[in-house]
Amino acid sequence: MAEEPEGTGLDGRHTMHLETGVALINALTGQHVHGRPKPALGGHDLVRAAADALGPVDGQVDLAVAERLRNVASRLREIIESLSRREHDQAAALLNRMLTDSKARPYLHRHGEQSWHLHFHSPDADFVQRWAAGLAVSVAAALGDDTPHRVGLCAAPRCDQAYLDASQAQIKRFCGLSCQNRVKAAAYRARRSGS
Ligand SMILES: [Zn+2]
Repeated sequence: MAEEPEGTGLDGRHTMHLETGVALINALTGQHVHGRPKPALGGHDLVRAAADALGPVDGQVDLAVAERLRNVASRLREIIESLSRREHDQAAALLNRMLTDSKARPYLHRHGEQSWHLHFHSPDADFVQRWAAGLAVSVAAALGDDTPHRVGLCAAPRCDQAYLDASQAQIKRFCGLSCQNRVKAAAYRARRSGS
């Protein structure tokens, strides 16, 4: 697993995991983006998209790993869909299953002379399980912390992108300005044609 930056607090690491989860969901899953169809990735494109979403991972992503990461991304999407529908029981059940499957468990590890560092995956977990464990723990922390809506799905039509809402008020509804403007323009056209 790519080493997390030293000196990042637990909240910072959870946020980093949520960002990575959103990047994986958007890179590897979904059928539409910003109103346009999104082609399903395969082969080398899938490998590159998965590796890019994770950041610097030293060539540890091959096709088999990328396929498994897509599965992790699909499970995360399902969890975030449940959260968007406010079905927290369902989201918690899915998260608990993901925590079990990824062998998530806290343990302290020390890289050489660096200070002790809390990992969320068991020492014998493989590359994908390590990521899945870290991602599941951070989404679970958000749900357990009563801030489950920090991660959401774009409300615009024909867009399946996930987003991270860093605002205090948690009012974000769209993946970005492109979709926000698209929805505003459609509402404006609807008002004009209705008058
Ligand atoms: Zn969107």
